[in-house]
Amino acid sequence: MRLSTRRSERPPLSDARPRQALAAFYMFPSWLRRAADLFAGKPRSGSWPRVRREHLNREPACAACGRRKDLEVHHIVPFHERPDLELDDGNLVTLCADPCHLVFGHLLDYRRRSNPLVREDAARYRTRLA
Ligand SMILES: [Zn+2]
Ligand SMILES: [Zn+2]
Repeated sequence: MRLSTRRSERPPLSDARPRQALAAFYMFPSWLRRAADLFAGKPRSGSWPRVRREHLNREPACAACGRRKDLEVHHIVPFHERPDLELDDGNLVTLCADPCHLVFGHLLDYRRRSNPLVREDAARYRTRLA
C-alpha cells in the first residue's frame, strides 16, 4: 500500500526522464558509428599516402576483377579495430571502388562489415572470371 501511495505522489514531470534516456540510447550508437566511419575513411597517419601509393605499385589492379581504374586500398582488418595495422602491407588489398570494394571488402555494408576472407574471396572470384 505504501508503494502505491508513493507512486501517486510523484510529480508528473518524472515521466520525462525515461524518454530522455531512450533518446540518448538511440543517439549514442549513431554518434559512435559516425566516429568509426570517420576513422575508417580518414586514416590518421601522415605516412598513409606514401604507403597507399607503394601498395598500388605492388598491386596495381583490383584483386577481384582485375580492373586498373578507380582503385581503393582497403584495410582487411578495419582501421578502427586495429589502428596499428594501418600501414601494414599485409593488411592491405587493392579493390576497385565500385563494386568490388563494397562487395568483397565490406560484404555490402560499408558501415558495419568487413570481410576477413577478402583475399580468398577475391582470388576465387578472379579464377572464375579467367
Ligand atoms: Zn573490382
Ligand atoms: Zn574498405
